[in-house]
Amino acid sequence: MHSGAPPDEGAGSLAGDADGRVCQEPFGEADVAAMRAALEQAKLAWKLGEVPVGAVVLDGAGKLIGVGFNRTIVDHDPTAHAEIVALRMAAKALGNYRLPEASLYVTLEPCAMCTGAVLHARLSRVVYGARDPKTGACGSVLDVSASPFNHQTVVRAGLLEQECGELLRRFFRERRLSAKRLKAPESGEPQE
Ligand code: ZN
Repeated sequence: MHSGAPPDEGAGSLAGDADGRVCQEPFGEADVAAMRAALEQAKLAWKLGEVPVGAVVLDGAGKLIGVGFNRTIVDHDPTAHAEIVALRMAAKALGNYRLPEASLYVTLEPCAMCTGAVLHARLSRVVYGARDPKTGACGSVLDVSASPFNHQTVVRAGLLEQECGELLRRFFRERRLSAKRLKAPESGEPQE
């Protein structure tokens, strides 16, 4: 079982983490650029009516080798989360199901399925934007990334957290509004 330790909010509490999984180095420009690319992917999901989550995978040299956005509805596929779509593309690009040098950037904290896939792919690093208090498995609901698995991936939280979270909040706000409009089409109220 995991320790139940909180994610790396208080840097001090995790200092000296023996397995080196938690890294406190500041994010660099390349990290920000990668998360911006993941945000662009998330916007593509929104265009299709999907919950806007996007991901990209970079190889060890920082080259983009995979992109993906959430497409569970259009693909009729419960596994078609942004991370899985991007990992599949990256693995095909490298011709290997293991990606030990690669990093995944995703706008929302990965769920248990995606965190499991990350560990199976033996990624070196995962960076996510917004926390997911409902299904996040990198510290929020579960901490699969800290499980005593035979591979450890460095996990970093909170890159462009505001932007990543705001995109999701806007999406759900608009969806609620259009659901309301559908329920009361005769109200005649001006619509935004
Ligand atoms: Zn997932």
